[in-house]
Amino acid sequence: MSARITLHCDRESQYGLCTSQLYTEALTLDQARAAGGQLGWLSHSDGNDYCPTCSGAPQPRRTNVVHLAPKDQP
Ligand SMILES: [Zn+2]
Repeated sequence: MSARITLHCDRESQYGLCTSQLYTEALTLDQARAAGGQLGWLSHSDGNDYCPTCSGAPQPRRTNVVHLAPKDQP
């Protein structure tokens, strides 16, 4: 019996069903969702999980490069 838990994004949009998945090494669903939450995943109380893009996170962390350029230079 596998202890690995995968979160699936269940968001349907006009472009079709989102197929984003997040593989975790969590032992419980709560742990998996906690790990996902750190990456921008959102777990709804209805049992669905949404990837950073679909959850509408202000800063989706799907990129490997993060630029920290200051917005307001004097
Ligand atoms: Zn998604």
